[in-house]
Amino acid sequence: MKNYGADEMNEYKSDLIRTLMNTRDLDDAGLLQLLAGEGPDAELFTAADQVRKSWYGDAVYLRGLIEFTNYCRNDCYYCGIRRSNRKIERYRLDRETILACCREGYQLGYRTFVLQGGEDPHYTDDVLCDIVSAIHKEFPDCAVTLSVGERSRESYQRLFDAGARRYLLRHEAASEELYGKLHPAGMSCAGRKRCLRDLKEIGFQVGAGLMVGAPGQTPQHLIEDIRFLQELKPDMIGIGPYLRHADTPFRDCPDGSMEVTLRLLAILRLLFPYALIPSTTALGTIDPQGRELGLRAGANVVMPNLSPRENRAQYSLYDNKICTGEESAQCRSCLEMRVLSAGYRLVTDVGDVKEHTCF
Ligand code: SAM
Repeated sequence: MKNYGADEMNEYKSDLIRTLMNTRDLDDAGLLQLLAGEGPDAELFTAADQVRKSWYGDAVYLRGLIEFTNYCRNDCYYCGIRRSNRKIERYRLDRETILACCREGYQLGYRTFVLQGGEDPHYTDDVLCDIVSAIHKEFPDCAVTLSVGERSRESYQRLFDAGARRYLLRHEAASEELYGKLHPAGMSCAGRKRCLRDLKEIGFQVGAGLMVGAPGQTPQHLIEDIRFLQELKPDMIGIGPYLRHADTPFRDCPDGSMEVTLRLLAILRLLFPYALIPSTTALGTIDPQGRELGLRAGANVVMPNLSPRENRAQYSLYDNKICTGEESAQCRSCLEMRVLSAGYRLVTDVGDVKEHTCF
């Protein structure tokens, strides 16, 4: 590529941002330039903020996260709750405890409950459907979101029929080669993508996503992720930096970069203006201001923790995870303050994705 002076480079990047904003697409070379930074990031973030405001105003949606089990049959090399980690104390919540979390959340204004956990065989279809339908029955004005990993299409259908309407399943890596480096044999990129397509076909609002700076990930892999997302057209997109956990095979791999995470977040907002994009706990863990910066770069969802306080530290996906010592009410008011300080407004309605069939 031609060697640009600083002014020319800034002009070139401004052009890229304009193209991205106007066409909702960009070629690989342009995306790589924007991901690489060293330029007008403020301009990229302002553009993302402008687009998010034109679709969602200054609203930031609230989702109550219930981390209901840290048992997992999988052995992902990056994850602290992987099966082979013998150092963590395992827990699982029963139906009544989960319902109690929802009741507390409802009082605090939550209208979406996100049930997330490892792939725990204890939660068979019967057990999980019973929990979902109990929540759905007691809180008919709320949305139930699940994030419980890979299951059969029949299982997803049963969960949908029980009342779940949203499903978060990060694809982790669209590149088969990178996916293979992050996961042991037996887990496959194709299988993960199949699950996402099944979920969409069944009618779930679907969330995909990835960790930025996962070991072995290159900028070219991020382009593959973007192209996969363009094909999938998810309703939600969750990204956060990869963060090390001392009791995983990746213990010596450096954390991902907050800056690249923010740039990718802004790019995703411009590519998917309609999307619900959380400012994640991992962003808040890598930097005390990370979640505010995420909101300013285009994110429009926050997910305070509603799990019982005594279990929070046990859901340790990575080291130094924040929000493990607070009561639910503290977690909610802390996030509300952060949302306000970033210049936005926390809204408690159910917050479905905007219509985007034209994309
Ligand atoms: N079992 C479900 C699944 O597979 O989607 C949900 C739980 S899983 C622990 C939730 C997400 O945590 C994963 O999709 C992964 O991207 C993220 N995660 C796990 N380990 C992480 C780490 N070390 N750093 C940052 N994010 C991590």
